[in-house]
Amino acid sequence: MIVTVLAVAFLIVIGFIVVVGYKAIFKGGPSPEEIDVEKCSVCRRKFTRNELLLRTIGDYKLLYFCRECVLKLYADLGMKN
Ligand SMILES: [Zn+2]
Repeated sequence: MIVTVLAVAFLIVIGFIVVVGYKAIFKGGPSPEEIDVEKCSVCRRKFTRNELLLRTIGDYKLLYFCRECVLKLYADLGMKN
């Protein structure tokens, strides 16, 4: 009887550690992939930094543009002329 109780307690402790461990993994700061992710300034979708075109406005403001938006802007400009 005591052995059963101990076994159950042991399983509960193991389960608790697993749950806490998973939470630590998923909430433990951004993953290396997420650090490199920026939002496109036009469509607000997320892309990795190497997919985006970076422009500096003034001294500090950084704007990212995705390829799709750049092409769309280029097409819009083409329609004007
Ligand atoms: Zn975009």
